[in-house]
Amino acid sequence: MSFENLGLSVELLGAVKKEGYTTPTPIQTKAIPAIFNGRDILAGAQTGTGKTAAFALPMLQMLSKNPSLKKRRKPRALVLTPTRELAAQVGTSMQAYGRRLSLRIMMVYGGVNINPQIDRFQRGVDIVVATPGRLLDHAQRHTIDLSQIEFLVLDEADRMLDMGFIKDIQKIVSYLPENRQNLLFSATYTGSIRKFADNLLDNPEHIEVARRNTAAEMVTQYVHPVERGRKRELLSSLIRGEKWNQVLVFTRTKHGANRLTRQLMSDGIKAAAIHGNKSQNVRTRTLADFKKGLVRTLVATDVAARGLDINRLPHVVNFDLPNVPEDYVHRIGRSGRAGQNGVAVSLVCRDDHGFLLNIQKLLKQKISIKEIEGFQMEKKTKTSAQKTPGKRSQSLWRPKGRKPASNGRRGRSTQAAPGRNRSSNTQIPGGRRRNVRA
Ligand code: AMP
Repeated sequence: MSFENLGLSVELLGAVKKEGYTTPTPIQTKAIPAIFNGRDILAGAQTGTGKTAAFALPMLQMLSKNPSLKKRRKPRALVLTPTRELAAQVGTSMQAYGRRLSLRIMMVYGGVNINPQIDRFQRGVDIVVATPGRLLDHAQRHTIDLSQIEFLVLDEADRMLDMGFIKDIQKIVSYLPENRQNLLFSATYTGSIRKFADNLLDNPEHIEVARRNTAAEMVTQYVHPVERGRKRELLSSLIRGEKWNQVLVFTRTKHGANRLTRQLMSDGIKAAAIHGNKSQNVRTRTLADFKKGLVRTLVATDVAARGLDINRLPHVVNFDLPNVPEDYVHRIGRSGRAGQNGVAVSLVCRDDHGFLLNIQKLLKQKISIKEIEGFQMEKKTKTSAQKTPGKRSQSLWRPKGRKPASNGRRGRSTQAAPGRNRSSNTQIPGGRRRNVRA
């Protein structure tokens, strides 16, 4: 299959060639003809599959073939994304693909002054790429007129639902005309996505290019067991020893990202943090520095990293494992993109064990455990003596100084595994069972 066979115009063929794309990716091969046929789309595609071009190319072509004759153009396509970074990235890609077309493409997100956005709407735009919050703000102030929308794209819809945007999206949809084409892209198919899609899409064509809930195939994954207090030391040692020059590191919290960044800097490793408390300008500049190689290590939280598109990113590190297993899939998808090989390593201490089990359950595979010389975890003599051959890795993870069954009181290390029921029945001395809130 070639881009020519997909029926793209000369202008768009020139644009994909300029981007260096020689053959369409599977999602592009399937989605582009369906969109040209006017179908709604429900596409299961992970990040890095080329999904942006899959919806952008046919949409740009259809809009430019039928240009708006109005002097003050109203938006005809709306693309919603979960994060500002993703909106910026998708908007930039669309501008590149549409460089030889006379369509006006605008990115709209919060964290920046709203007035220039209002001015631009007044001058007229054709395509708006936006985050739900700021877009809804405009719709409610009547500074944007959404009555002429012909295409609605929901990019990374699962993430938008995870981030609690469902109500905002429903409100935005109420401003749109009934007659429109809807294109929904999601990395995972949860029950809530299915329900959401049922309400929104009209007889959609189902497209799936990656197996459900599988990690990006080009990424080699390892778990490095390590004591919690030695994670930073191990990370610095890996970055320096393995000569990693571009590493994306995930922490669970913004505070954790800041602290780790400071510690890496004090180890002589150029690092910067990117998270929701950083202003949009700082986030944009930090990402640019990372892409240019001025910053060796980018420490990010899940939300901030969601929209990052960094070509050939070779290393992703889970400094903390995510407590939502799907986030692991999104995280490692930053590496090994568009046919490149990548490595994702997770630094896992005893407290992370529950998170690891849930991730492995989702992936339906065990992640290889690789101990690093000098950082092996302290083994308990008692459990080692009881161990049977082949069970080594399990006792390795058992909470330090505790037996598997607790006495009903919860210590830090007996934290309930994430995703489990919030209450659990725990055996107490005397044989009675009582309910313990997690
Ligand atoms: P996306 O999944 O849209 O975020 O795209 C991931 C990466 O793949 C981006 O860097 C795109 O520029 C790149 N890409 C998209 N389509 C193709 C293609 N047909 N051939 C090679 N790279 C592509």
